[in-house]
Amino acid sequence: MFDTLQDRLAATFKNLRGKGRLTDADVDATAREIRIALLEADVNLSVVKEFVNAVKVKARNAEVSQALNPSQQIVKIVNEELTEILGGQTRNVRFSKQPPTVIMLAGLQGAGKTTLAGKLATWLKREGHTPLLVAADLQRPNAVKQLQVVGERAGVHVYAPQPGNGIGDPVQVARDSITEAERKLYDVVVVDTAGRLGIDAEMMQQAADIRAAVQPDEVLFVVDAMIGQDAVNTANAFQEGVGFDGVVLTKLDGDARGGAALSIRKVTGKPIMFASNGEKLEDFDVFHPDRMASRILGMGDVLTLIEQAERTFDAEQSAKAAAKLASSKGGKEFGLQDFLEQMKAVRKMGPLSKVFGMLPGMGQLKDQLENIDEKEIDRVEAIILSMTPSERADVTILNGSRRSRIAKGSGVTVSEVNNLVNRFVEARKMMASMAGGAMGGMPGMPGM
Ligand code: GDP
Repeated sequence: MFDTLQDRLAATFKNLRGKGRLTDADVDATAREIRIALLEADVNLSVVKEFVNAVKVKARNAEVSQALNPSQQIVKIVNEELTEILGGQTRNVRFSKQPPTVIMLAGLQGAGKTTLAGKLATWLKREGHTPLLVAADLQRPNAVKQLQVVGERAGVHVYAPQPGNGIGDPVQVARDSITEAERKLYDVVVVDTAGRLGIDAEMMQQAADIRAAVQPDEVLFVVDAMIGQDAVNTANAFQEGVGFDGVVLTKLDGDARGGAALSIRKVTGKPIMFASNGEKLEDFDVFHPDRMASRILGMGDVLTLIEQAERTFDAEQSAKAAAKLASSKGGKEFGLQDFLEQMKAVRKMGPLSKVFGMLPGMGQLKDQLENIDEKEIDRVEAIILSMTPSERADVTILNGSRRSRIAKGSGVTVSEVNNLVNRFVEARKMMASMAGGAMGGMPGMPGM
């Protein structure tokens, strides 16, 4: 997602490097490049026009900055404008003061509603809520079962019509689910509704009827980012037929060019509230316009990375490792066991290419990132696991015979073992020198 746009914009900014100040001609040329980049990304034409104009006006009126060179100045302006078209502020769920809060999902079939219901439930649980999922998609024969499977995986109760009762009335099911939630003290109800492959009047009416019956606090329009400009048309149809309060973009992990994401807020006037980027329950996040803008500009998404780290890291274990690195001379108390634990913690955050991709400046290293060999990391783990605890604690005791035993045990060559040990000692030295507090401060704009 956004790959081509990212490359294009980076190339545009590069052209401005080395310039002392921005002339009107520079601004015009840059604006033209940005226009092409956005059109290629399949962004809605009126959105592109508005965007490019705003950048031009701001760039022309920008004061000569002491702190930023012209290239950085343009990046700053584009960053602000991207944040703006993506919605500006993060829009949080409005929870009802009188539970249950009712969230209704609407969208075409295949948009990812049912998957989203599970993700939303997982997220709600983490936020301290007790959600109930409701199967009001009685159109597709398998839909109820699918939601039940998703609910089970998320560890959340699913309210569904009893099997054998015929097709059932989805409006009635939705209505009953609210009573059930009140009775059993669920504080958030997520209603999954039926979708069709195309927009049709009957489906729209059914969704509108469910909406009228359950009076949701939030109606979320779920849309597949892969459908590009069509997302905008579909959104408009749903806006008219059912109405909605927020948008959820799904399949951001795909190779969509980003047009849907960049157009939908401006065209519908409704905020993007969540984004889905994979098939697993964890592949989901609250949508932050500013972070997405930074990510598009290759400035990384450090905040999301930190949040993911906080979710997966064991704080105590992490603090212990840091203390070991900072304490004794050269961090020698930090052994391979600590390293192994840290590595496992990082891997829990997802595939390394995804994790590193969120770091500033890594946008340009995309190709290498895709080639990160997870198997290599498996090998490192295997080598460490073949060591005894005392070897892991102190690598200096690793003589020739120990090394060859470890190599045999982990199915690698002795030189691979040597390699790992040497690299570990080097890395430890570096980490130890940073552990004294030299890591503070936000990273600057990369590559400028
Ligand atoms: P629904 O018809 O709207 O309920 O859509 P589903 O939840 O059944 O999703 C349709 C397909 O898209 C399923 O195969 C999902 O696994 C897949 N899917 C849903 N969300 C995502 C996502 O964010 N990324 C990817 N790659 N696949 C997704």
